[in-house]
Amino acid sequence: MSDNGVQLGGRFGYCQVCSRRFFVSRLRKRWDDLWVCPADWEIRNPQEYVRGVPDLLPQYPVLPSPGVEYSTYCTVQGRSAIPGFSVPGCMIPGFAPAFDPPTQVYG
Ligand SMILES: [Zn+2]
Repeated sequence: MSDNGVQLGGRFGYCQVCSRRFFVSRLRKRWDDLWVCPADWEIRNPQEYVRGVPDLLPQYPVLPSPGVEYSTYCTVQGRSAIPGFSVPGCMIPGFAPAFDPPTQVYG
């Protein structure tokens, strides 16, 4: 809808979107710095100002892995010289416990 009517002293300008001729008094400057007609004028999208909310997660310290810990202590079976049951530093060569050693080894 261009203005072809008479407006005394009015100057003509062109909409920078649709390139139609309007009186300069009817053109408006849009958010993107374009001079546009009333039909092409629009507000800036308010969603452009929306920013994400950062997640405030607790920051736990990163601790080193303890790795595999071995605890050795002398047991009756560890004092024996039976492979798989003997404990280094505790084993007595030739020692045989007076009971049957366990038949299952854990670990
Ligand atoms: Zn226009």
